[in-house]
Amino acid sequence: MDIRPLGIDPSQCLIGANWTAPHGARKLPLINPSDGTPLCDIAAGDAQDIDAAVAAARAAFEGAWGRATAVERGRVLARIGQLVLEHKEELARLEALDVGKPYTQAMADVVALARYMEFYAGAADKLHGETIPYLDGYTVYTLREPHGVTGHIIPWNYPMQIIGRSVGAALAVGNACVLKPAEEACLTALAFAELGRRAGLPAGALNVVPGLGAEAGAALSAHEDVDHLSFTGSVGVGKLIQTSAAQNIVPVTLELGGKSPQVVFDDADFDAALPFLVNAGIQNAGQTCSASSRILVQESRFDELLAAMSARYKALNAGPALDDLELGPLVSQRQKQIVEGFIAKGSDLELAASGQIAADAPAGGAYVAPRLYACADPDHMLAQDEVFGPVQVVIPFRDEDHAVAIANGTRYGLVASCWTRDGARQMRLARKLRAGQIFLNNYGAGGGVELPFGGTGLSGHGREKGFEALYGFSTLKTVAAYHG
Ligand code: NAP
Ligand code: MG
Repeated sequence: MDIRPLGIDPSQCLIGANWTAPHGARKLPLINPSDGTPLCDIAAGDAQDIDAAVAAARAAFEGAWGRATAVERGRVLARIGQLVLEHKEELARLEALDVGKPYTQAMADVVALARYMEFYAGAADKLHGETIPYLDGYTVYTLREPHGVTGHIIPWNYPMQIIGRSVGAALAVGNACVLKPAEEACLTALAFAELGRRAGLPAGALNVVPGLGAEAGAALSAHEDVDHLSFTGSVGVGKLIQTSAAQNIVPVTLELGGKSPQVVFDDADFDAALPFLVNAGIQNAGQTCSASSRILVQESRFDELLAAMSARYKALNAGPALDDLELGPLVSQRQKQIVEGFIAKGSDLELAASGQIAADAPAGGAYVAPRLYACADPDHMLAQDEVFGPVQVVIPFRDEDHAVAIANGTRYGLVASCWTRDGARQMRLARKLRAGQIFLNNYGAGGGVELPFGGTGLSGHGREKGFEALYGFSTLKTVAAYHG
């Protein structure tokens, strides 16, 4: 397939003003997970390319981008948002082919990317310091300043949304960015960088170096001239990133995985809850950091809810991304093997229902039929470990305390929801559930570009999205002036 995102050669990196081959001219194959065929080759950048990208970012920070006013930065971001919308069909198709994401879901990511640009365009000139009352004869104020060069290492599951929330916020504050997309899915990162160029981002304000995590990713996280790191991905790699950040004493935002629960009380509106309960497990074939892989249901209505969810599961189909069924393939055969490994290890659980793989889905695709399990043991491996595939467990609970104990009974804490008509219970649960986002009688709140997002425990630390992200991507300077 001749893939040229917005006309550019996908085997290149954007370093400074120009698209260039990585210095070693090495390439990696990109596979279409819907049928297993090669899509194109991408660049295999390494430490030398990262070095060049960081130098280009530093030059931009000390040059044109560093001098741009907040209003000017906002205008560039607004233009990028506009260009994203103008190219939305191409971007959605690239993401569908690359990630295996059903086209409608890929299009939702494009729209979210545009929204991030709009949000951070509007926010760029609204971040400011404060004056602080102090001793007689002093005027004290604070300045909000960019860190300088920020490194962004992102995964393959939601490239556009994660670029939007991390690169968008970093640029709004005035940082110059180096982006290392995932080797399994990087086409929309390349397209985004090209749109940035066309929108008027100065050379070096955004650099993109695709490549292996252990090479390009490790080099970026260890680079001494990077002032802030933003990482979204697995817990294991997150530990490596935090260790690297420690060597250079730079701040790091970690957005890691989750085992996010939805807690359904017996007074809940089941009809309203059902689509959220299922969709939160199968969206992007379960490869979502904030997927809801645990459904906790009060005992008295457990059988009823399990039956209702099972009926929905039986109607689910997985097929090629461009066929736009409920599920596409997983991102790769490697991911499929990981998920099948979990399914094999969990075979002692009662399979309540499963969906199917479409009869005409290509044999070379990385398809996994979605599975729903009844699980009486909250400590079961499938109720504790992040599968990152279309697998949900339904767990019974007795009362509110029991529900909270189960919900908080993993090492993760990304998001959680509570379904109940009891307003006082909603308020209690919002406080007691351990997570960075709580949803009451909904799940996901439509993506929430405006809503601060991030985890506790193994889910990571720091917040992206919303205005809050601007604090993370900036640093505070205090100025104390003595004038007598
Ligand atoms: P991953 O293996 O941790 O990869 C994430 C990124 O890190 C990729 O760009 C990867 O490069 C890079 N990387 C790998 N090894 C590295 C190293 N030694 N040093 C520096 N960078 C390195 O994660 P994944 O398997 O792609 O994604 C799945 C995980 O991400 C899940 O656990 C999921 O929960 C988490 N996730 C979390 C969020 C969130 O917002 N909390 C969002 C999405 C995903 P390669 O592509 O070359 O491996
Ligand atoms: Mg990976």
